[in-house]
Amino acid sequence: MRLDGAKITLVDARAEHLYQPGLSLVAAGLKPAGYTVSNTTDWLPQGITLVAEHAAAIDPIAKTVATTGGQSIPYDFLVVAPGLVLDHDAIEGFSLDMVDQNGIGALYAGPHYAAKTWEAASKFT
Ligand SMILES: Cc1cc2nc3c(=O)[nH]c(=O)nc-3n(C[C@H](O)[C@H](O)[C@H](O)COP(=O)(O)OP(=O)(O)OC[C@H]3O[C@@H](n4cnc5c(N)ncnc54)[C@H](O)[C@@H]3O)c2cc1C
Repeated sequence: MRLDGAKITLVDARAEHLYQPGLSLVAAGLKPAGYTVSNTTDWLPQGITLVAEHAAAIDPIAKTVATTGGQSIPYDFLVVAPGLVLDHDAIEGFSLDMVDQNGIGALYAGPHYAAKTWEAASKFT
């Protein structure tokens, strides 16, 4: 193994892991909202350290990640995978409080809205 003996650290403040593909099943009425939510720690392989804070800054010269809690974590190799932040306000005429009214759904917005999307679909059918 090329990284045999590597010390791996995950920096992420989100305690809840969201199984995003499962949102489709919630919005289709096949699973309850809670099906998509688990603990991030449930998925950590042995030997990986979780720093439950957000990254605030990266210094690629000093090779450190500063966390929102004030830690400075040194690294040899850094993988940055922050995902996306959905911007529902950018959709003209739409807001999340419309979900479940007039046949409107928004399953990407999270488990709560995926369940409301199923409610909207149920009313329609
Ligand atoms: C409804 C739906 C259905 C989907 N179906 C499929 C499917 O069938 N097959 C498939 O392959 N994909 C599917 N996807 C896509 C898949 O779920 C995403 O592509 C995947 O979850 C993205 O993973 P990610 O790690 O890039 O981002 P995320 O899962 O969003 O994780 C990003 C993480 O970065 C953390 N983060 C952000 N900023 C910081 C920071 N400053 N410091 C520390 N941590 C930070 C966040 O807290 C988060 O935990 C689906 C998505 C949706 C919404």
